[in-house]
Amino acid sequence: MRGYPIVISSPSGGGKTTLVHRILADMPKAAYSVSICTRPPRTGERNGRDYFFVSKPAFERMVRKHELAEWANVHGYLYGTPKKFLDAKISLGYFPILDIDVQGAIQLKKKYPDGVYIFLIPPTLRELSRRLRERHTDSAEEIKKRLMAAKREISMAQQYDYVVLNDDIDAAVERVKTILEAERWRAHRAESRLKALR
Ligand code: 5GP
Repeated sequence: MRGYPIVISSPSGGGKTTLVHRILADMPKAAYSVSICTRPPRTGERNGRDYFFVSKPAFERMVRKHELAEWANVHGYLYGTPKKFLDAKISLGYFPILDIDVQGAIQLKKKYPDGVYIFLIPPTLRELSRRLRERHTDSAEEIKKRLMAAKREISMAQQYDYVVLNDDIDAAVERVKTILEAERWRAHRAESRLKALR
């Protein structure tokens, strides 16, 4: 049986990295989709694990060769999902998990309508700002930029299948697990099982 992509988006600081790790640890057939990006690595990030860090010309070459399932300019850098990994995992019955932005999710939904699209929201913008400051990874200027972007992204949340509140990470993980469990049993995914029974 084929798998399908599971897309998790949220504004920066919305808690998706932690949530994605928790889902990956819990779902044996989930596989993290490592994006390519032109942003320089942050301290502790590893090439091939967190991202494939590439130059802008290398990124543009991949776009020209149609090697990306989606791509977008996020906060001034280019990010994209390698198509080969995604399609290979899906056809082998795995569930690629994608941590991508709103622009990318909208592109992907057109090409992979069978996927599950989840948008995580913080309880308030004030809380989001607090989380960003506590991360100590971005400058005040960068945080301001990310908060402005958050408002734009939240206004597109209706294009997702689910909007999940992340007021508490454990509760958010449980909500996402419930969604994924229900998605497994959607009628349109039962085609081959039903056929075998008939
Ligand atoms: P960061 O630089 O903080 O790791 O990520 C910045 C934003 O880029 C996040 O919202 C993340 O979800 C998004 N992002 C990461 N990889 C991709 C990708 O392959 N495609 C798109 N469209 N966005 C991505």
